[in-house]
Amino acid sequence: MRKREMDGNIAKLPFENFFSGRRGRGRPPFLPAASVRSCADNYRTSLKRGWNELSGPLLSAETEQEVANALRSVPLGYPHELPLLAPLIFKVIKDAKFPKRKTAQIKFLADSIGGGGTVTPRRSRDICAKERAADAQRHHIVRFEYWIECSCGYRGRSEYHSCRKCGAILYLPNVAELDSSQYE
Ligand SMILES: [Zn+2]
Repeated sequence: MRKREMDGNIAKLPFENFFSGRRGRGRPPFLPAASVRSCADNYRTSLKRGWNELSGPLLSAETEQEVANALRSVPLGYPHELPLLAPLIFKVIKDAKFPKRKTAQIKFLADSIGGGGTVTPRRSRDICAKERAADAQRHHIVRFEYWIECSCGYRGRSEYHSCRKCGAILYLPNVAELDSSQYE
């Protein structure tokens, strides 16, 4: 397979093996760098949600087991695998570079464990930083319209999401802004 050549941004990550504890046969699976970053984003959200409650017991933990206990004691939502990452998280929070400030701590920790322990925390943070920087370079949709049918009788393309004939407005849901800045 030329998969790695097709996507230059692929990290070498036996990701499933990590959680299953088993090592598969043959070539280890590859996880795209975008997935590392995506996991980190999810961890950022979850850690942010529970940090006030979690940070005390987590940051004072002296063993991997205490880290796991701290993570289980706080409802963090979606990433149920977080306690499984306790050994990795323990390593990250004891890192001399672990930030002092709350939001920086959340981002640093989330990005460090985005790779699920299959790459070093440092490499995981590098992957996240590279992916976030690449966002700024990619083209993105700056405008989109709908095909609409309005009660005034107009059928056709909307203009800035409103009816081209009578100006009726289509309300769009707000898209929550994701905080993807660096460790500040
Ligand atoms: Zn109309």
